[in-house]
Amino acid sequence: MRLIILGPPGSGKGTQAVLLSQRLGMVHISTGDILRHAIRNQTPEGKLAQPYIARGQLVPDEVVNQIIAARFRGPSRPEDFILDGYPRTDHQADALDEVLKEQGIALDGVILLEVDDQEIIRRVGGRWICPNPSCLATYNTFNKKSKKPGICDACGTGLIQRDDDKEETIRHRLEVYHTVIDELVHHYEAQGLLIRVHGKGDIESIRRDLELKLLGKDHK
Ligand code: AMP
Repeated sequence: MRLIILGPPGSGKGTQAVLLSQRLGMVHISTGDILRHAIRNQTPEGKLAQPYIARGQLVPDEVVNQIIAARFRGPSRPEDFILDGYPRTDHQADALDEVLKEQGIALDGVILLEVDDQEIIRRVGGRWICPNPSCLATYNTFNKKSKKPGICDACGTGLIQRDDDKEETIRHRLEVYHTVIDELVHHYEAQGLLIRVHGKGDIESIRRDLELKLLGKDHK
């Protein structure tokens, strides 16, 4: 399938995107992960994106559009994919439409994971990530605890909190989200692609609800 997942920061869209990509055999493409990787490697894109990410602002459209266009125009173009964190503005949605059209690819659906702001602020406070570049597993003290507190289950590295998950920054990221999400919703509603899913509850029940809406069947 060819999907986009939209939702506020901390809504669990990254977690659901990874689960869906594994279960349905799609490539998971997260612009947030790509940008953080670029920052760690101090590439020109990374250096450009760093101050925006640190302040909780959106990286300029041209930068992310370029990253995504290169991914779809390159030799390893994904056939089935889930885009997570992109598009985030109407301009990005237009740029994506253009790239997909040029490549002869049609989307199957655009998931909107809906979670209210208070719940987001509570959840993001519990979010921990593995800083090991070859791992980057994510945890949450509310619904996805590591077995040993503060230690990554997958590779044993000490967990950290993301700088842009601090409460002040997350509030700003939510404001940014609310200013752009309506346009994106209209964009994909007009294309008959929008699928609304409640993002409240445990990871497994959200996953099942999502697959039910996508595939029309209940998958355990
Ligand atoms: P995420 O991991 O998706 O929450 O993204 C983390 C940060 O990366 C965002 O707060 C933005 O600063 C930046 N970012 C990720 N994707 C995009 C995008 N499509 N457009 C602009 N900025 C982005």
